[in-house]
Amino acid sequence: MNSKNIFGGIMSERQGVHSTDAFVVLKFGGSSVSSKETWDCIFDILTQRSKDFRPFVVCSALSGISDSLERLAARSAGGNDYHELLEYIVQRHRDVADSLGVDFDSVIGSLLSDLEKMSHGAALINEVSPRLWARFLSAGEMLSTKLGAAYLQRRGLDTLWLDAREILYAEPENDASRSYLSARCNYDNRPALQKELRNTSHQIFLTQGFLGSNVKGETVLLGRGGSDTSAAYFSSILQAVRLEIWSDVPGMFTANPKQIPSSRLLKILDYDEAQEMATTGAKALHPRCIAPVRESEIPLHLYSTKAPSIDGTKIIRQAEGAAGLKGISVKKGVYLVSMSTVGMWQQVGFLANVFA
Ligand code: ASP
Ligand code: MG
Repeated sequence: MNSKNIFGGIMSERQGVHSTDAFVVLKFGGSSVSSKETWDCIFDILTQRSKDFRPFVVCSALSGISDSLERLAARSAGGNDYHELLEYIVQRHRDVADSLGVDFDSVIGSLLSDLEKMSHGAALINEVSPRLWARFLSAGEMLSTKLGAAYLQRRGLDTLWLDAREILYAEPENDASRSYLSARCNYDNRPALQKELRNTSHQIFLTQGFLGSNVKGETVLLGRGGSDTSAAYFSSILQAVRLEIWSDVPGMFTANPKQIPSSRLLKILDYDEAQEMATTGAKALHPRCIAPVRESEIPLHLYSTKAPSIDGTKIIRQAEGAAGLKGISVKKGVYLVSMSTVGMWQQVGFLANVFA
């Protein structure tokens, strides 16, 4: 079914699914949640979307904050002075809170004082385990979503803040570091949760990207850049009609527009094409986010937060049109090792030695 979208373009919906009770998942990246200007864009987008759907919003941390949190954890554990860096993180959030007219202390004061305690703790014991590392990094998304939810509520949007860790459960994993820092989560259709959310009086839900929890209820991360994957998991769990990824670019291009100014925006791709481009270097999408939406055939649309009227890239099961070259992507830091020797035949452990 094709319907006119709220911004005037044509969008394809999943067959037969269309009701105001249907979920649409919208993910906003770091640059989209870093200023009042972009939160006002988000307000407008959600006001529109909530007329037709129940928006389920997934946010990244403010831009650059996850990097700063990684540095904070490393500095604290390394015995270096962390106070200036901590102060920078606090000030970035204070500035955003002030510009949004949100009360800093009551909304995020306790999260930031926890962060200070963690830094102090890591400095005292001179180490940061993967488990603590995950807690450090989770602060970024907790802070951005607390600020954003408070702002949307202040402007009268009926928004319920949710803790992503109560919805995304990590699959068991043997490797400790991977289990805390690069978890994979279950994304089976969850009708009970859909019902629970529909039964609340709230129209809009807002939660963190990048975070989940393990069987012990501890915080785990989905790997750097994992918010796209979170949004794809939520889309599958809620059987959303569509996943929208909002960032500072409207979609995937035929080449990197920063290098090739004449590159064109790709209007439509199928899952295979998008997977290949994301895996080989296109930055607009994280490669891990395609499989969960593809399995349920949920369309994935890319948009630019500051320019919502641009019809971005749509990724669907079957893109019509002639087969042909869609784009060029570049992946750096790939090495090809070519070896040949007859001495390796029947030599147990030969490759192990080479790679060691
Ligand atoms: N904030 C996290 C990161 O920078 C997750 C994300 O934004 O996708 O890696
Ligand atoms: Mg990203």
